[in-house]
Amino acid sequence: MANVFERLGVRTIINAKGPATRVSGGLMWPEAAAAMEEASQHCVDILELQARASEIIAEATGAEAGLVTSGASAALLLGAAACITGLDPARMNRLPDTSGLKGEVVVPRSHRNFYDHAVRATGARLVEVGLADRFAGAGVRDAEAWEIAEAIGERTAAVLYVAQPHALPSLREVAEAAHAKGVPVLVDAAAQLPPASNLRRFIAEGADLVAFSGGKAIFGPQASGVLCGRRDLVAAAALQTLDQDIFFEQWNPPPGFIDKARLKGLPQHGIGRSCKVGKEEIVGLLTALRLFAASEAHPRAPLWRVYVEELAGALKGLQHARVEVVEDGIKTGVPGVRLTLDTEAAGMSALDLVCRLQEGTPGIQADPGRWRERIVTFNPMCLKPGEPALIARRVRELIR
Ligand SMILES: *Cc1c(COP(=O)(O)O)cnc(C)c1O
Repeated sequence: MANVFERLGVRTIINAKGPATRVSGGLMWPEAAAAMEEASQHCVDILELQARASEIIAEATGAEAGLVTSGASAALLLGAAACITGLDPARMNRLPDTSGLKGEVVVPRSHRNFYDHAVRATGARLVEVGLADRFAGAGVRDAEAWEIAEAIGERTAAVLYVAQPHALPSLREVAEAAHAKGVPVLVDAAAQLPPASNLRRFIAEGADLVAFSGGKAIFGPQASGVLCGRRDLVAAAALQTLDQDIFFEQWNPPPGFIDKARLKGLPQHGIGRSCKVGKEEIVGLLTALRLFAASEAHPRAPLWRVYVEELAGALKGLQHARVEVVEDGIKTGVPGVRLTLDTEAAGMSALDLVCRLQEGTPGIQADPGRWRERIVTFNPMCLKPGEPALIARRVRELIR
């Protein structure tokens, strides 16, 4: 029987790129999908559901509180908004107008990336710090903690930190510098899972708020994410994504999640209203998070191992290319298949190969991130049974 995409006339693809948004993310846990379907047939108070989600996220991350968001990008927007407004509803109603507010976010220049648009969407202006000449091969330095400390002023709402294995300065140093000036640190850790231990790591290293993607390795709903951290900031974030068209008297937030006594009134539809999550995404994310957090090695790691061995095996003896299985080739705990092309003999670049794989039917998505080094990477995280053999056949057809 045709699947839902075929019935719509949309082609399914073989995803050897990994859980990226443009290829529709990954393969959700069937348990999470079932929970979403079940949730869709009941109504709850959404704040009560988020309050329970907060407890479950707190348990998994070691943070004081947490919020299910519509993605890591939404978590960054809400986190930044929370740092700017605190629990003041008047300020919440004003964003993205930050005039007169703490409207600056300090960021090491080497951490700048296009996902920080979510932070800028709050109205915040990014203040870049340091010169990362280590990337130019002309020096050895990156931003240093003292430079971050110096850039923090009266208008600083937060420091933005993008977690990466090679990120400098260390999060601990940055947190120390920021906290000495009373400023929170917002960490983009969207793609830093697995390992599952990273769920706790950034909070342990001093982050005040951390954003994770729910649609990547957690294998929750594609449009889900997590914001976790300080209780007051998570409360401020929650308030800016909810529909609050009710009377203050009528509104009874769970006290452990939002302290009504600290609010002079209710903010209306906040800056984060356009990134709302439904009850379906919330239960889907919570179900997936429980499965993901249960073990340090990803529960699907044995399957990924089978796929990379299968693909590498089926490509054995391939002409004009070297094929190898690379441990931690995608990230810690995720192996990959690396194909290094003899571009002259093959008569095409690694990027050409990726484009041609994409053009066939079904389209095959691989990772061309290192094509200039003649490398194509195959990511096993979103593959299904039988697909490694199909990929190998197409690669053999293309490289003759
Ligand atoms: C994927 C990613 C995001 C966005 O995550 P979504 O869950 O898709 O919103 C943000 N920052 C970084 C560094 C990412 O890799």
